[in-house]
Amino acid sequence: MDLRIVLLGPPGSGKGTQTERLVEEFGFTKISTGDLLREAVRNGTPLGKEAKGYMDAGKLVPDDLVVGLIKEKLEGVKGGVLLDGFPRSLEQAKKLEEFFHVEMAVDLDVDQEVLIKRLTERRSCRKCNAVFHLEFNPPKVPGICDKCGGELYQRSDDTEKVVRERFATYTERTAPLTEYYRQKGVLRSVDGMGPIDEVYKRIADVVREG
Ligand code: AMP
Repeated sequence: MDLRIVLLGPPGSGKGTQTERLVEEFGFTKISTGDLLREAVRNGTPLGKEAKGYMDAGKLVPDDLVVGLIKEKLEGVKGGVLLDGFPRSLEQAKKLEEFFHVEMAVDLDVDQEVLIKRLTERRSCRKCNAVFHLEFNPPKVPGICDKCGGELYQRSDDTEKVVRERFATYTERTAPLTEYYRQKGVLRSVDGMGPIDEVYKRIADVVREG
């Protein structure tokens, strides 16, 4: 499918999990700034060194770093694209417009209290970035990724203190994007509450409608 989509929604709303499924079904090229930044941190690159402090504090990494990263990744990409975690501010959305036309913005609508539980009990794969939840989406073998056998860990920004800071950042910087994309006529709001499969079905229906 050839659509160019951005996935919006607060931290823990299910963007990463749903992105994986959408990629499987529709073959989108996925670009997740969070995954790319964590990889840079792991590899100790200059970008990673600069980004780490912001990430551990639940703040946004400066635009010039993130926009450069996404621009580089989008170069030469053909067909459908799914952006997960970008843009995260009006400034980023405006910069993105200069080199990428967003055809659909899917906004996951979720209750914030539910999200605290989702995030603090989330576990991520060190190797393939797949995400699990200790209660709602547990791995078959504790501590091991179902998909690749990699080790599961808790992201350093999934602790309650940082999660609260990430929500504050979201409310202040990212939530206004919903209105921005509504005015452009590309916003599709999806109820993000309930079992993962049901939420996926809602998103996939919206995507199929185009
Ligand atoms: P995520 O995995 O999408 O929750 O992102 C984790 C962290 O990476 C965020 O809390 C930010 O510190 C940073 N980050 C990810 N995407 C962006 C972005 N588009 N702009 C700035 N910082 C970002």
